Amino acid sequence: MSEKLETVSKVTIPLSEPFLGGNEREYLLQCLETNYVSSIGPFVSRFEKDFTSCVGAKYSVATSSGTTALHLALRLLGVASGDEVLVSTFTFVASANVIAYVGGTPVFIDSEPRSWNLDPDLLVSEVKRRAKIGRLPKAILVVHIYGHPADLDPILEVARQYEIPVVEDAAQSLGAYYKGRHVSTFGVLGCFSFNGNKVVTTGGGGIIVTDHLELAQRAKHLSTQATLPGAEYHHDEIGYNYRLSNLQAALGVAQLEQLPSFLQKKRAVAARYHDSFKDLPGVSLIQEAPWARSSWWMYSLLIEPEEFGCDRNEVLARLREKGIQSRPVWTPLHTMPLYSNCHRVGGQVAEKLFSCGLNLPCSVGLSNLAQDLVIDSVKDCCSV
Ligand SMILES: *Cc1c(COP(=O)(O)O)cnc(C)c1O
Repeated sequence: MSEKLETVSKVTIPLSEPFLGGNEREYLLQCLETNYVSSIGPFVSRFEKDFTSCVGAKYSVATSSGTTALHLALRLLGVASGDEVLVSTFTFVASANVIAYVGGTPVFIDSEPRSWNLDPDLLVSEVKRRAKIGRLPKAILVVHIYGHPADLDPILEVARQYEIPVVEDAAQSLGAYYKGRHVSTFGVLGCFSFNGNKVVTTGGGGIIVTDHLELAQRAKHLSTQATLPGAEYHHDEIGYNYRLSNLQAALGVAQLEQLPSFLQKKRAVAARYHDSFKDLPGVSLIQEAPWARSSWWMYSLLIEPEEFGCDRNEVLARLREKGIQSRPVWTPLHTMPLYSNCHRVGGQVAEKLFSCGLNLPCSVGLSNLAQDLVIDSVKDCCSV
């Protein structure tokens, strides 16, 4: 057995695993029985329709992953070689990679310490500074991190003032609301991921949502090799094979049906962790802002080693010994050699989060017993 597989098999409580408790089997069998297992089939449009109404957007275009959804979004906005895009530094690498895919350069913005999202004050002053020197970014890519929405109003306002399009990376935030409206519906385009560890999964997949018909049509066109109608293989630009298959969409339809119960469970898991950890010395927790409803995709906390008694890495190691999978939070992208040449605004907050932050198991299927083991194991590390 490879080392990697061995490590996986020792894990008894994974960080975030899929929960297949609904019509997944039935819909997959329908695909097999009807022979629609590939890129054509009724589940794809059904999934897009269900998703559109779930988030309250006008149009949805399903894609092969969250990364390909974001890549298409930047293509749709015409981001190209030499363009700069403002993006959070505290995020998964795909948020920045898609900027590089189109030849652009990310400009990394630090987090605010409360929700760990992109700091709107830093973003606003950076846009204004750039306006003065005639170097406005081509787009702003806002990530809603770990399920908690970013504070969108100031970001949207400065974007409107300088006519900069906003894309929302809501890959982690299905079920999250900003001032009562679902995230992804504020920007020109919003993107989601259905990877196995996300709020709902299609095995692998993504989606773009928008209120603009032309953008939705063009997203579909680009995701299907930019094929023109007719039997001949005519293509009017360089497109991609970024479709979601009927099999994947079948899973997605079944998963979306369960979304309300998934969100309820995630909220309950977070509340339980919160109650258990709120009085531990040296621990700080994310709290929902008054204007936010989090999807609680990933539960995270910060450990201050001096007060807590040991550092984040030791907590990770002690949990691993007990078969509990936990992870450090995202490595700030500006600290990675591959992006170290990019301009950044601030960065110390994200670096601090990275040195002290960890994610705890928060699957929809997490039992109370398993959660108690995680809670006790964390408390055991605290030597006060
Ligand atoms: C998961 C994720 C992505 C990429 O989605 P994939 O489906 O894995 O390609 C992009 N951005 C963020 C913030 C993510 O968490």
